[in-house]
Amino acid sequence: MSLIDHLRAPLFLSWQLTRECDLCCLHCCTESAPGKRLSGELSRPEALELVAEIIVREVPYVMLCGGEPLIVPHFWEVAESLGHAGIQLKIETNGQRLDDAVAERMSRLPLRSLQISLDGATEEVYGRQRPGGSLGKAHAACRAAVRFGIPLEVTFAPTRLNIHESDRVIDQAFELGAFRFNSGGLMRIGTAARMWDKLEPTEAQYQRFRELLERRSREFDRKQFELCFEPFSVQDGLRQSLGQPPATLLILPNGWVKIAAALPYVCGDLRRDNLATVWDVYRRFWNGDIVRNIAAGAIADASLHARANDWQSLMAT
Ligand code: SF4
Repeated sequence: MSLIDHLRAPLFLSWQLTRECDLCCLHCCTESAPGKRLSGELSRPEALELVAEIIVREVPYVMLCGGEPLIVPHFWEVAESLGHAGIQLKIETNGQRLDDAVAERMSRLPLRSLQISLDGATEEVYGRQRPGGSLGKAHAACRAAVRFGIPLEVTFAPTRLNIHESDRVIDQAFELGAFRFNSGGLMRIGTAARMWDKLEPTEAQYQRFRELLERRSREFDRKQFELCFEPFSVQDGLRQSLGQPPATLLILPNGWVKIAAALPYVCGDLRRDNLATVWDVYRRFWNGDIVRNIAAGAIADASLHARANDWQSLMAT
């Protein structure tokens, strides 16, 4: 029996509130960009209904992400309703809209962390990978978060465009007051899959990058600043999930629930099914052969990850 069999609810929900975004990053795994809102995204009343269910099921930890969660009109209602119920939160943002007023309001939430992407050490490189974005604004958002006592994580997605600046981004993350620097191999999902030939770092670049991460992680006191880069690849993550299926549900903007980020399969629809039912279905699939075989296939052939956003119901397999 695995951990999930002992739990009456997931330990963690990763909730993509929207696919809309104010940037159009070349490496985006959710294919977000301006105008990319899904037609069937959960409305405000539907999102708040889901919030109520999350509270009743006593899910302890929820991540709000997107797209860009801060452009969702009911973002604050969702975050504050969860927060007032004592649910720990993580918020993932590109930081373009996060000023002192936003940081101050966020600081009143039970935030385990705020994660901001810094995919370059210079405006030129950052802007090339994150068209429409400003590194200056992302840095200002990091400073505002730290000023208001919010635990800050920085994430870095390595590509052929920015990997040469990774060492400087680590320094900047530390100087900005982050407690963690997250990275790993580029995921061949979504926009990144379409741009793969332009973005995928070479083997030699990856080798130097891994050596850098290992060397730099030895430099810091982990209690003060840690570098997290395991599992490094999608395959490593799936291998881990096969050993111990994660107690995590990934909720798409339309309320569908994915079995894993790198797999295209959906095991429920929270518009139609309640959270308890979806959790049961999720566990049943991870305990059965279908998902284990699909995951093994995606470990053997990384090119399959490119289909991760072609969502299809597991019930049809
Ligand atoms: S990577 Fe983040 S900021 Fe960039 S387009 Fe995707 S959701 Fe938006």
